[in-house]
Amino acid sequence: VHGWNKIPVAPPDKILGISEAYTKDSNDKKINLGVGAYRDNSGKPIIFPAVKKAEEKLFASETEKEYTAIVGSKKYQQYVKDFIFNNSGKDANGAKLIADNRIVTAQTISGTGSLNVIAEFLARFSASKKLLVPQPTWANHISVFTAAGLEASYYTYYDTSANGVDFAGLKQSLESAEDESLVLLHACCHNPTGMDLTPEQWDEVLEIVQRKRFFPLVDMAYQGFASGDPYKDIGLIRNLNERVAANKISSYALCQSFAKNMGLYGERTGSLSIVTESAEHSVAIESQLKKLIRSMYSSPPIHGSKIVETIFGNPELYKEWLSNLNSVVSRLNTVRQKLYEKLDKTNYNWDHLLSQRGMFIYTGLSAEQVIELREKYSIYATENGRFSISGVNDNNVDYLADAINKVVN
Ligand code: PLP
Repeated sequence: VHGWNKIPVAPPDKILGISEAYTKDSNDKKINLGVGAYRDNSGKPIIFPAVKKAEEKLFASETEKEYTAIVGSKKYQQYVKDFIFNNSGKDANGAKLIADNRIVTAQTISGTGSLNVIAEFLARFSASKKLLVPQPTWANHISVFTAAGLEASYYTYYDTSANGVDFAGLKQSLESAEDESLVLLHACCHNPTGMDLTPEQWDEVLEIVQRKRFFPLVDMAYQGFASGDPYKDIGLIRNLNERVAANKISSYALCQSFAKNMGLYGERTGSLSIVTESAEHSVAIESQLKKLIRSMYSSPPIHGSKIVETIFGNPELYKEWLSNLNSVVSRLNTVRQKLYEKLDKTNYNWDHLLSQRGMFIYTGLSAEQVIELREKYSIYATENGRFSISGVNDNNVDYLADAINKVVN
């Protein structure tokens, strides 16, 4: 009945599949390089100390668990706007966009929820349904956008033979795409390659975006992971704000997440902001976002957003959070450097590792080599050669480097 027997089994999620296989492995030298979540030098997940303190404050003061608004609390929206668009008073263009009511912000169910809401919104209201995404990109981008009914196609981003950005190819493929397309841009720490554009390259890309009247959709899941300082990692946003203020780009959207930079993974805390053409557009857009979200999940969860509010509202905790984030990023950079030093460069140039930023290294190893690492050495990573650097620490870096050297040579 009901056709349930015709339901095919869906393929398992590749990353979660790796974690499952890892858990089953009895080799005590096993390493999990699949998951994009932070681990400390002893291989354990952490809670940022500033987050723990914010939770203690909340626990002592909370008196209710009422629903928040459909788009989250005003306080949360204001903190997020100020953090990202005003850049702590350093982005005059962003500050003006906020003051002119040209930014609509909604709390969302982390970054993925934000992408879902904007995907549904664009599927309903955008004239163009064509979305350009970098090749390669986070696999879930394609799933989210196509599920909403958008047509996703790739623009050139990475040259696998040179282990670097193919900037000429990137520009050419954007130039040849249809005018007024939607274009997905990774704000920093491009996933999976870890390779970002320079400010000068962003400028060139935004010239094309502007001339071809693309709608930029920025995904920012790793703010702070490029430089260790969240304010330094938003050059793309400042550039966009400048162009919007000068009426060169009319509007754009930003999907943001506190999963990585506040370690709030499972609290599912993020935001969607749409920078609009006018205060009138903002009213209409916010009303449609509310209508959409009300039917999708009614309102977002409150624990994570209250942590964000507590941290942003307390100068001491705020400072502590920035320093917690900086320590996380510096550990990743230290271990990246250590791994680089231990890799044998006789037959393989590993220099790209040092230009890559964020949670991952994009090794350039083939699927066969990744499988060999798994089968012979119990080292688990996705077959595209992306390794989560946070799974590497002082205790396993020698074993890992040694195994990679054997597989490569
Ligand atoms: N975008 C990119 C590129 C990501 O890598 C991730 C997480 O891995 C996300 C968005 C969304 O993450 P979350 O839904 O956990 O905030």
